[in-house]
Amino acid sequence: MKKILVLEDETSIRSFVVINLSRAGYEVIEAGTGAEAFEQLRLHPDIKVAILDIMLPDTDGFEVCRKIRTADPHIGIIMLTARTQEMDKVTGLMTGADDYVTKPFSPAELTARIDALFRRTGAAGSQETGEIIQGPFRLNTRNRTLEKDGSRIKLTQVEYSIMKMFMDNPAKALSREDILNTVWGRDYFGELKIADVNIRRLRIKIEDDPTNPTYITTVWGFGYKWGL
Ligand code: CA
Repeated sequence: MKKILVLEDETSIRSFVVINLSRAGYEVIEAGTGAEAFEQLRLHPDIKVAILDIMLPDTDGFEVCRKIRTADPHIGIIMLTARTQEMDKVTGLMTGADDYVTKPFSPAELTARIDALFRRTGAAGSQETGEIIQGPFRLNTRNRTLEKDGSRIKLTQVEYSIMKMFMDNPAKALSREDILNTVWGRDYFGELKIADVNIRRLRIKIEDDPTNPTYITTVWGFGYKWGL
């Protein structure tokens, strides 16, 4: 069964999420504090997706996210954000999350996001083999890893998917809609901005100078282009 961690201290919201995810066929592990979340992850190493609230009694969701991501580059992470939180701040702090959902959200919206993450993490075991080598970059499509000049660059599943899309389409301008459709799937409910958030993070990891990117360039008013 597909296992999910739900970290949310407000019991009414947590019950709502748990009931709906259980109904959708997931096995849900609950936590009300950051400490409980780490304990549950230790007890259930097969958790594939974590849903993290931001305002918590003992810590904040970004810190939990950062720690989970350091320990596991492959787990899917969705942040639960409140409408009152400034989105620029939220996206800037999303150092390791793959996606975010704004409260109040519908169960359909949340399960669509989770399903999209599971499709990507599930693809890690697919039959695709081989390598794409371009310039200093070597993308191993079997292990889903990236090296630059022989050194491993740790990528999240989303960052890997974006990187693969770029390397499959060298020198081609890709619209943010193209990226969203390919990486997040056509049934994705989210905003185009999530593509920018992930690409900003990818640039920090792969560019020689992230403030002056040369591999992932911006195509103004349209999207991004991969080039060497
Ligand atoms: Ca809370």
